[in-house]
Order: sequence, then structure tokens, then C-alpha cells
Amino acid sequence: MLTIDGAMGEGGGQVLRTSLALSAVTGTPFRIEGIRAKRKRPGLLRQHLTAVRAIAEVCGGRVSGDNLGSCALTFEPGQTQHGDYHFAVGTAGSATLVFQTVLPPLLMAEGRSQLVLEGGTHNPMAPPFDFIAQTFLPLLHRMGASVSAELKRPGFYPAGGGRFQVDMVGGSPLAGLSLLERGDIERVDIKAVVSQIPERVAEREMKALAGQLADLPIRVDTARVESAGPGNVATVTVRAAHITETFTGFGEHGVRAEKVAHRLAGEVRKYLTADVPVDEHLADQLLIPLALGGGGQFRTTEPSLHTRTNVEVIGLFMPGRVMLDEGGTRICVGRALQ
Ligand code: AMP
Repeated sequence: MLTIDGAMGEGGGQVLRTSLALSAVTGTPFRIEGIRAKRKRPGLLRQHLTAVRAIAEVCGGRVSGDNLGSCALTFEPGQTQHGDYHFAVGTAGSATLVFQTVLPPLLMAEGRSQLVLEGGTHNPMAPPFDFIAQTFLPLLHRMGASVSAELKRPGFYPAGGGRFQVDMVGGSPLAGLSLLERGDIERVDIKAVVSQIPERVAEREMKALAGQLADLPIRVDTARVESAGPGNVATVTVRAAHITETFTGFGEHGVRAEKVAHRLAGEVRKYLTADVPVDEHLADQLLIPLALGGGGQFRTTEPSLHTRTNVEVIGLFMPGRVMLDEGGTRICVGRALQ
């Protein structure tokens, strides 16, 4: 049984999620101590507990220590079964992070799965649904996986109540992926959505963003959506020849719409100036599918602590599979390690 220090590297939920996913895929039991040790409120929050129970259900695993606030648990995986699953966080905690946890074993297991996930769909510090649908899943398609996701209802903090559905067929080997160039920018979609707050906020965000990204081929959109509570997100989708990247800004009480737009434009500029295909967030999330499949390589910005930590955790379950090159801005996985 592997012993994992939950405080390693970034010391957050990702250490736990990656361990759960790779444990299920490789059949390696593990014990983790110090879960989310570097967070303000350490231990299992509702979102992490949902992920633990979800993966135990998917792979017939045995868990001890799966209660709210728990800082240690033991997980013994079984055999992953495709099927119909329903996972509800029960708070505004991120449902996309629960999806991120159960996806790897279901990708590897033969057969069709249909998932319904409920909770937050657009949370700060988690992949927003649009990032999953526009950026992450198309890359899995390119690797030969069949996974599609549909947003039924967005869920924002603090009300939650979001819901999305995933339809996937697992069991086909994942092809290698090489993403070394971004390619020319074809279009940049900028969109702001609001729920239960004035549409004027979305319009101001778009006006400010359009001004700051005026040199790019932008297309602007605003929308009012139905959700259980108030929410506002602005999304910039950069569609380039070799990749589509998604950047998200979150409206906050007391923060001006122009400020939200300014921060988001800054993130987009940083990505464009780096002239790499893979942004910071995608980098840490691409590692697992690449490690499970035919490997590959990609160029990214300076690796985040999340990325470095994920490399370390993957190394515990699949030693020698991932290597950082060129100061970490070129990441090589599996057979493409040269
Ligand atoms: P943790 O902080 O350990 O719970 O992990 C958070 C995860 O969410 C990491 O995989 C991040 O890359 C991902 N993430 C955070 N913010 C974004 C964002 N704006 N877009 C896409 N992914 C994100």
C-alpha cells in the first residue's frame, strides 16, 4: 500500500483526487494523511467527500476515513464498472472536480457510462464547465476518447444547484498527443453571463474586455441564465489553429465589472505573450490522460505548483512517466520521453 503525504507540494485537493483516480486505474491501494493540509480549512469538504464516495462507487472500492473534515483515509480500489451514475455534491462545491476524479477509471473501463453531476459548475479555483467542454474534452477526442458533456443548469457559489451530464464510452486506448505550437489565432469569443443580477454588469464587462482585447479577432456575447442563485462569469475563448483555450473571470460582490474584465484580459495577455499552446490550468489537468494513454508532449507557461505536484503524485503511481524539460515549459509524458 502506498502512503501519500497530503501536504506534499501544493497540499490541496488535487493530491487526493489524483491519488484516487490513479489508484482506481492502476489497482494500487493507498493511505493518505494530512489531506488538504495546506488549506485554510484542511480535511475533506463536501466536494472532496463526494469525489471519494463517487470513485469508490465507480470502482467498487473500499474506503475508511470518508467523513466530513477527515484528514486521513485509506482506499482500496476494486474493478471499475461502466454504467449510469449520479453524483451530487450537495453544496456549491465544484462538480467538475468530482468529474475530474472519476473520469480516468471510466475512460479505461470498457463500455458506455452516463453521468449526472450536481453542485457548482462555475467555481473559482476549479475548472469551469466551459473549460471542460471547450478545452479539455476536445483534446481527449483528439486522443481517440469519446466523451461529451452538456450543461443543464449552471451552479454558482454560494447557491450551487448546477447540473451537467456526461456521455462517454471507455475502453479504447488513448493515442499520444503532441501540442508544441499554438498556431494562428482564428477567433476569440468573449462572453459574460449573469444570473439574478442586472444584465448591465455583463454589458460593462464585455465593453471593458472588448476594449482591452481590441487587437484580436473578437466576437462578443452576453446572456442571462437561470440558476439557483446569483452569479456572474466572463469567459474568453481563444480559438487557435492547434488548440482552444478557455479563460474565466468571476464576478464578486464589491468588485467592479471593469476590474473583473481587466484581470481576465491580463490572464489572456499573459497566455498570448508566452506563445505556448497550453495554459497553466490545462497543463496540470492534461498530465493524467497523457500518462494513461500513448504519452505525448506539450509546451506550457512556467509550471504552476499544481502542475509540479501532479507530476510528483503521478510519479508515485506510475514511476518515471512524466518529465519536465526546458525549465518545466516542455512536459514529456510516457513513450514520447525524448
Ligand atoms: P485544487 O486547488 O487542488 O483543488 O485544484 C484545483 C484544480 O482546478 C486544478 O486542476 C486547477 O488547474 C483547476 N483550475 C483552477 N482554476 C481554473 C480555471 N480558471 N480554469 C481551468 N481550471 C482551473
